[in-house]
Amino acid sequence: MRKVVEPPHFKEYRPVGINLKRRQSIDLFYEEYEALKLADYDLLNHKEASELMGVSRPTFARIYESARRKIARALVETQTIKTVFGNAVMDKEWYMCNNCHARFNIPNKIIQGDCPVCRSENIEHLNK
Ligand SMILES: [Zn+2]
Repeated sequence: MRKVVEPPHFKEYRPVGINLKRRQSIDLFYEEYEALKLADYDLLNHKEASELMGVSRPTFARIYESARRKIARALVETQTIKTVFGNAVMDKEWYMCNNCHARFNIPNKIIQGDCPVCRSENIEHLNK
């Protein structure tokens, strides 16, 4: 169980100014993104961050280390970073609109089956 508050705000992070024809990419798990965010953006120590994610400190350290290595590899090898669900557990059901890229969560279920922003029905469930 790796608790993640909300999914990353993007599906892919791509380098600009290089030839992307080979289209190599690195899968960054939601929990790896969360670990990096808690430690290096929110500036929590590993004890606090591990408690928030519901994992032991060694497990947190492993997830965090894996995240850093993936980001470093993506930067050095100019690879696209894709965010994928991995082993995350989220309190709410998260959805993303593939038309306008809005992200939203609904406690129970989508009632109308469309995007609350643009009304597109091209919606992706992120908790999977
Ligand atoms: Zn939309």
